[in-house]
Amino acid sequence: MTSAQSTRTTFESLNPATDEVVGTHPVHTAEEVGAAVARARAAAAWWADLGFDGRAERLQRWKGIITRRAEQLADVVRAETGKPHGDAMLEIILAIDHTAWAAKHARKVLGPQRRSPGLLLANQAASVEYQPLGVIGVIGPWNYPVFTPMGSIAYALAAGNAVVFKPSEHTPGVGEWLVRSFADAVPEQPVLQLLTGYGETGAALCRAGVDKLAFTGSPATGKKIMAACAETLTPVLIEAGGKDAMLVDADADVEAAADGAVWGGMSNAGQTCTGIERVYVHERVYDAFLAAVVDKASRVRPGADATAAIGPITMPGQLDIIRRHITDALAAGGKALVGGADAVGDRYVQPTVLVEVPEDSPAVREETFGPTLTICKVRDMDEALAKANDSKYGLGGAVFARARAVELARKLRSGMTSINSVISFAGVPSLPFGGVGDSGFGRIHGPEGLREFGRAKAITRQRFKAPLTLTTFARTAKVDAQVAKLITLLHGKRR
Ligand code: NAD
Repeated sequence: MTSAQSTRTTFESLNPATDEVVGTHPVHTAEEVGAAVARARAAAAWWADLGFDGRAERLQRWKGIITRRAEQLADVVRAETGKPHGDAMLEIILAIDHTAWAAKHARKVLGPQRRSPGLLLANQAASVEYQPLGVIGVIGPWNYPVFTPMGSIAYALAAGNAVVFKPSEHTPGVGEWLVRSFADAVPEQPVLQLLTGYGETGAALCRAGVDKLAFTGSPATGKKIMAACAETLTPVLIEAGGKDAMLVDADADVEAAADGAVWGGMSNAGQTCTGIERVYVHERVYDAFLAAVVDKASRVRPGADATAAIGPITMPGQLDIIRRHITDALAAGGKALVGGADAVGDRYVQPTVLVEVPEDSPAVREETFGPTLTICKVRDMDEALAKANDSKYGLGGAVFARARAVELARKLRSGMTSINSVISFAGVPSLPFGGVGDSGFGRIHGPEGLREFGRAKAITRQRFKAPLTLTTFARTAKVDAQVAKLITLLHGKRR
């Protein structure tokens, strides 16, 4: 955020393939952010009062609108990110599925549930329910401008909250489309509102008294978000970057593993938080795997035309990072089997496959966010695990293996792992999604994602007067002795 940006009242989103202006949007000020949160607070009360069924019915209505207008939304996604139409549709389809799941399951996950009262207070009926937090601030990135924020927005709404959404400054048009389509489904109240602008607008949202801030973006910004939210003890959910590893064992289906590595590493021009960036391959299948990866990666063509497999790099500044990672890797003794130092143009990056890159290189340690893969030969899967886990990040990952597949998946230090496929976990609405370490904390998606946006409320109801009442000054020494005897009976046995 430069001072020039901070004084502007509007900004433009650009098509990264052509630099054409896609749209002009306001830079919302801190006052406007505060006003939006105040409006959201009133809307939140109305939305919460609708109950699970009322909200589910409206969210299903919204889902239907997005589905019927998906082509239109894909055009906006393509214009602002440059990604191929098919990839834009894929993220929209997945977001629709998540919205449907969140709407359908909110009551079961968050509604009142009986709990055992235990022996000491057996006269109580115990229950828990998850009540809405109130107003959720959602700050999103540009790389999956529909799928990623919807992982927070749809689940927060289903849990009964109002949402104020600040999309990336690169994709404000996508954010606007989502909020407008919601208003078509729910015209009564501003339950989902849009704020546009740069980081400063996001920072104002952190300080505006929201009940939780759900952030998706880089770890560096995540730290700023936490610092701003700390001022008001606003809880945060941080979905940050990754450096996801793939492990390929000696008994893996090598062809499938190569296919997964190339798609996982190169799709969306590598601009995927859970994209595969590092591959650790058992020496017995290394040569065959490499040959298959080189063959497949050489056929991935960047461009703006309808048949190109990947689009441009959306954020121009990222080109310098990708170039630096490749040139550093080559200078440190790495070899490029596909692409290389000249792969980075002024908009597009040719797929690049690097081998023999030292493990301390930026290409192995930092998020590259480009269509690159580093491939490393290992003696066995224990070495693969040690290397894969030696990372500050831990978002997703993949294991291609047979005999040890589940064990390896469990031992990979990450929030999610796909076995014999890549990134599948993101498309399963019932599964939680989130990271470890610099990849963040908290979970979106699934029951865990719904509970992120609810406050556990515990209730006990006395069913009858117990012979041993603990919660009264009338409790006698005899009662204390009986309780102590009971506890000794229950828990005092020698093992
Ligand atoms: P970013 O951190 O630059 O920006 C994300 C959002 O934060 C934008 O809306 C931006 O305007 C806002 N922002 C910037 N400074 C801020 C501040 N000081 N206070 C409040 N808000 C501020 O990230 P990006 O470049 O948009 O996205 C790419 C990153 O996001 C990558 O690291 C990627 O791995 C990560 N990502 C993670 C996930 C996930 O689910 N874990 C998903 C997609 C992307």
